[in-house]
Amino acid sequence: MEYRKLGKSGLRLSAFSFGSWVTFSNQLDLEKAKECMHFAYDQGVNFFDNAEVYAEGKSEELMGTVIRDAGWGRDTFCVSSKVFWGGEKPTQMGLSKKHVTDACHAALKRLQVDYLDLYFCHRPDQLTPIEETVRAMHALIQQGKVLYWGTSEWSAQQLTEAYAVAKENHLTPPTMEQPEYNLFNRERFEKDYLPLFQNYGMGTTIWSPLASGVLTGKYSNGFPADSRLNMPGYEWLKSRYTNEEGKQRIAKTVKLTQLAQSLDMTSAQLALAWCLKNPNVSTVILGASKVQQLSENMRALEKVTALTPDVMNQIEVIVANRPEAIPDFM
Ligand code: NDP
Repeated sequence: MEYRKLGKSGLRLSAFSFGSWVTFSNQLDLEKAKECMHFAYDQGVNFFDNAEVYAEGKSEELMGTVIRDAGWGRDTFCVSSKVFWGGEKPTQMGLSKKHVTDACHAALKRLQVDYLDLYFCHRPDQLTPIEETVRAMHALIQQGKVLYWGTSEWSAQQLTEAYAVAKENHLTPPTMEQPEYNLFNRERFEKDYLPLFQNYGMGTTIWSPLASGVLTGKYSNGFPADSRLNMPGYEWLKSRYTNEEGKQRIAKTVKLTQLAQSLDMTSAQLALAWCLKNPNVSTVILGASKVQQLSENMRALEKVTALTPDVMNQIEVIVANRPEAIPDFM
């Protein structure tokens, strides 16, 4: 395993981490979740990602049970939660001091840990002043309930405000962002966030590196019955790949698969190695419905060196979505 610093913090996370969205409690029961988490941990994964909203809390309960039963030293792994969607009532959602605090306490109970290593604002909250959220996170850190706080899918402007508020008021700034980043979604990460990496040393824990599995190439001949895009409740996700843009993306995966095969790797490995190539990626959060997927995907670490400048150019030609460079008027 390779370990990378979470931005400018001193925390070194495994380059591949493991998350539970969709899978825990839906596709993976306790035994299967245990199998995947143990496999990941034994391979050197030291960060497990979760959120209050995943399976309405059941995902954190499962992860907490696996962690408790495993008896892993608390100083050998990191676990996260995310706050935003905790329930239907006004006090159960968003980033008010009230919900940020209640959600942290509830996650600690479900995960059966004394503190969260990473705690994320799952989305920006238009109704709560950013200063209130920064103060709430700072307080949890002061209380020892959270070590590092961060955001997920915040705009560069919202993050800049959070950094400014923290600085003005001597509060703890965010350490990391959790954005979607993969061969189909690059603009914000590669362009908008650049000043945040440079000016604040922001770390990143990136999600859906395989675009929910599409970048494995397995949707090139339709939608396999036992795959995420065919799961009940995820019709919204499938619909992204039945329109014209989605069909074009799937067509690109056919070409990416051919390129991967010519390099003696799988399409999933190529897509994951491509994420690892970006030095602003602190950790790539893997998702898996089977331990075999984790096993295949983690071998992408060995494939990074095969992505030479020439191969990277071939990938650019296929995906044809490189963000425009920031103009330099000097
Ligand atoms: P991916 O894009 O990597 O998708 C993972 C899914 O793809 C698997 O569950 C599996 O689904 C399929 N898959 C993975 N590897 C293979 C393989 N080798 N062959 C065939 N199919 C494969 O990641 P996720 O979308 O799961 O995101 C990873 C993590 O990121 C989440 O668990 C969560 O922790 C975090 N996340 C955070 C978000 C946020 O808003 N902050 C949003 C989304 C995720 P199947 O077998 O069912 O087809």
